[in-house]
Amino acid sequence: MSSNRIAFIGLGHMGRPMALNLARAGHALAAFDVSPAAIEAARADGLLVAETLAAAVREAGVVITMLPAGAHVLSLWQEALPHLTPGTLLVDCSTIDIESAGRAHDLAAQAGFASLDAPVSGGTKGAEAGTLTFMAGGEAAAFERARPLLEIMGSRIVHCGGPGAGQAAKICNNMILGVSMIAVAEAFVLAERLGLSPQALFDVASTSSGQCWSLTSYCPVPGPVPASPANNDYKPGFATNLMLKDLRLAKAAADASGAQTPLGHHAEQLYAGFAEAGQGDVDFSGIIRHLRDGGA
Ligand code: NAD
Repeated sequence: MSSNRIAFIGLGHMGRPMALNLARAGHALAAFDVSPAAIEAARADGLLVAETLAAAVREAGVVITMLPAGAHVLSLWQEALPHLTPGTLLVDCSTIDIESAGRAHDLAAQAGFASLDAPVSGGTKGAEAGTLTFMAGGEAAAFERARPLLEIMGSRIVHCGGPGAGQAAKICNNMILGVSMIAVAEAFVLAERLGLSPQALFDVASTSSGQCWSLTSYCPVPGPVPASPANNDYKPGFATNLMLKDLRLAKAAADASGAQTPLGHHAEQLYAGFAEAGQGDVDFSGIIRHLRDGGA
């Protein structure tokens, strides 16, 4: 039978601090990554890094993956499955396409293992602070087994439904975010042209029907919300390339399911233009500069 040990695979910007929080909470954890730089950073943090994927997962009770995209998750799960002990639970926290998420659940089920898709929001700050939001999809029993671990890495844990429901929630939420940020940025650009001060617009809209997270927590102009990336030249924050990735996943899901998401699609095109202008690493709220310059 599987043990209480955790295998954590993918020690990048998000994975390393998440693994660290589990280790600090007292869990025996074997970490793994293919990047020498990621391995070095994880070792410097005191994480136990296995030499191979097989060694990391062999005696694990839970395998957690935090990887770039669906293709990585599918090939890694395929490679890991023959080395798992009966009873091991697979939890993928990466943001991946709905189709791959479904295929990953199928791979696990065919090999006799329970699995969960559990993507996150909250960024690297949330990963470091252990305050991520987890959106989980899978059987209730798998969710209940994973919950104590998710509660160490996050502060809000939502079971969204069956296999793939976590990824569905993630891309729907981020489509709202991507579109609403552009709406807020356009309003500030128009206000500038009309001679209305950003603070005046903020004071009205933040307590009126224009209120939304993109305005009140992540305001795209400097001043009204001191912690927003706009006050730090749009760094570091949530990179435009990551927003673009999520909007492309939303578009693919909309196309596959026949949903009409014209604003989501338009937002994707606007962020793509911003990224193509060399701004892919800039926080996504920096799109206001692109809109101001007529980049739309
Ligand atoms: P990252 O690129 O920093 O880290 C990914 C890690 O996976 C890298 O260290 C890479 O070497 C490793 N990796 C790739 N293939 C591997 C393999 N076969 N075996 C072992 N390791 C492998 O990415 P990140 O920013 O940590 O994001 C991870 C996931 O979380 C992505 O799906 C991303 O969309 C999602 N996400 C990121 C953020 C964010 O703010 N960075 C926020 C929410 C969700």
